[in-house]
Amino acid sequence: MKKNISIVIPSYNEASNIDKLLASLNETITALPYSFKIIFVDDGSKDETVSKLKEIASQQDNVYYVELSRNFGHQNALKAGIDLAKSNSDAIISMDGDLQHPPQLIPELIAKWEEGYDVVYTIREEDASLSYFKNKSSKMFYGLMNQLSEVKFEPGTADFRLIDQKVAEIFSDFTENELFIRGLINWVGFNQYAINYKPHARFSGESKYTLTKMIRFAIQGITSFSTRPLYLAIFLGMGLSAFAILFFLVYVFYSLYFGHVISGWASVITTIVFFGGLNLIVLGIIGMYIGKLFMQSKGRPNYLIKNSNYK
Ligand code: UDP
Ligand code: MG
Repeated sequence: MKKNISIVIPSYNEASNIDKLLASLNETITALPYSFKIIFVDDGSKDETVSKLKEIASQQDNVYYVELSRNFGHQNALKAGIDLAKSNSDAIISMDGDLQHPPQLIPELIAKWEEGYDVVYTIREEDASLSYFKNKSSKMFYGLMNQLSEVKFEPGTADFRLIDQKVAEIFSDFTENELFIRGLINWVGFNQYAINYKPHARFSGESKYTLTKMIRFAIQGITSFSTRPLYLAIFLGMGLSAFAILFFLVYVFYSLYFGHVISGWASVITTIVFFGGLNLIVLGIIGMYIGKLFMQSKGRPNYLIKNSNYK
């Protein structure tokens, strides 16, 4: 019997990419001796994505669509797909819907899985087709992540990977609300293998990760895997208090021996503003973690499915 492999593709306003992606996928997978299911997860798209998906699902019987009730974000859409597919897939491949993740890599992912790896992930090489900003910001982010977190992250990893069924089962049981899947998959361990690839430019449409979304995603990643920013807050506080005491002593000494020193407005204001700012930053850091607790404590599901032809 052929092994079952599911390909999960979160799609948000990707109507103009679907045909091309499916054609490219079909070209690669029909030659392979596996039984494939292609699962598109529509993440509350506002364009023709859903009607497009229904159309192709009616034409090709290994294509399925899952319609979420609204936009839940890329990570949650991906989890929806994995949750559905895990019970009847020996392995699950996840990839983006914009052809940035080349389907031509799929045979290699599968080959490594057959060699016994449980997670085969991909590393995007720095590439001219991606913006300078995307290349650099991604590098900086992973550098920061590695400084702050106990789990090590490799620059250039995205959600283009194959996971074995047992990893999918474990991942599915995670009840974290703010998902940072590449971190979680790294965290679970097992036998992992990395493949390098050159990303393509987005085929059509625009990136859904705006700058603010990217920063939020980065903060989510850091706070999901580390409490080190809290220590940073404490050390900063301790360091500054020590400095303030020292400063005070110097000042007392100075006025005892040299008489009254004229104190300027500017320095006072600067100090107030500086420490005010620091207070806000530290409060913000603490607040972020409390916010996470608050969100998690409600125990809401990560996504809701409105409609699907998956079976
Ligand atoms: N995506 C999604 N929900 C969202 C945003 C994005 O399902 O709210 C999907 C999108 O359709 C694509 C993948 O996630 O398949 C990656 O998004 P995008 O290509 O915009 O990100 P980038 O490649 O620029 O990081
Ligand atoms: Mg993309």
